[in-house]
Amino acid sequence: MAMIPSPEQATKRLAQILRRGSVNLGGGPGIERLMLMLTRSCELRCGYCLVQKEEDAQSLSVEDARRGIDLLMRSDRPCLELQFFGGEPTRAWSVLHDAIVYTANHPSRRGRSLEILVTTNGVGMTAERVAFLADYPVMILFSLDGDAGTHKRFRAAHLLSDAAAYENIDRCLTLLMGSDLAWFMNAVLPPADADGCMARYRWARSQGVPRFQLNYAVGMRWSQDAMDRYVEGLLEVLRHHHDDDGGMKLFNWRSDCEPVMLSDDLIVDVDGTVYHDGAIFLERRFPALKQTYLRGHLDDLNAFDPLRWPLAKLYDVMVETYPEGSDERGIVLDNCRFGAQVDLAILALARELGRS
Ligand code: SF4
Repeated sequence: MAMIPSPEQATKRLAQILRRGSVNLGGGPGIERLMLMLTRSCELRCGYCLVQKEEDAQSLSVEDARRGIDLLMRSDRPCLELQFFGGEPTRAWSVLHDAIVYTANHPSRRGRSLEILVTTNGVGMTAERVAFLADYPVMILFSLDGDAGTHKRFRAAHLLSDAAAYENIDRCLTLLMGSDLAWFMNAVLPPADADGCMARYRWARSQGVPRFQLNYAVGMRWSQDAMDRYVEGLLEVLRHHHDDDGGMKLFNWRSDCEPVMLSDDLIVDVDGTVYHDGAIFLERRFPALKQTYLRGHLDDLNAFDPLRWPLAKLYDVMVETYPEGSDERGIVLDNCRFGAQVDLAILALARELGRS
């Protein structure tokens, strides 16, 4: 029976993962992926969000969004993905709208497979926007943690009341359930809710959510006990889903994005600067990554494929950004080990159940 991997097993697994490079670098599906940071504005202030939010800061311009897409299209890979990130991307709707139309019709796409991932908290989603998105190869990453009480606890509203924010979120859920648009619910658990996997999963099932993904919050301090409890809850969810999937896809069966702390995607910031994405999604806690994860500016970059670093390099750069004994280095090392623990637990369970 699959058990919670020990810290020693997780450390060994991490070394194996680092040796494999990256699934995007030839060992896997041949995907190249770019993220566009559209805006730093957001209606919410989630406790686990480490992106620097600012309501009146600059947004990505239409021209820079197009230049980022041109850069992605120069990739030689057969599958392309573009992800919109923020802040809340729908708050820069005109840029988002233009970028989707531009990408889908780009002359350098050359018939290649394309997925456009729109991250949203749902607050600004409308029927018209859903109808527009449904005409394109869009997948919605609906960042949703459950009921109103859960949101109030971990995802405080900022630009409107908690009740009004959740009313909009609930409306977005109804709109998505009634549309042809592909979407999945992405739930994030902070250390304070390490036992919450099953509750989030049950809530998703009760709503008829078609696709679901559970995540732990990265860039935060997790005790070994909290990590173990999260993994235990995740395994319980996976077992339940294996026995009765209820028609819902559970993305956690694919663990090839672990450790999430070492996400190797590239992101264009609102000013056209290109980084490995940890520089943005960890920026409030790990601001020094803005220097060490910097890959250039759209003004100067011509080729996309050489930009992505292998995981081992990302790991070395991230660890070496912070001195030995520092809090930051401790969190980096712990979070990477946590990711390897999750990866190993899922693999062992999938093997036990004959799924791999
Ligand atoms: S996680 Fe998303 S919705 Fe929450 S504050 Fe950050 S950008 Fe906004």
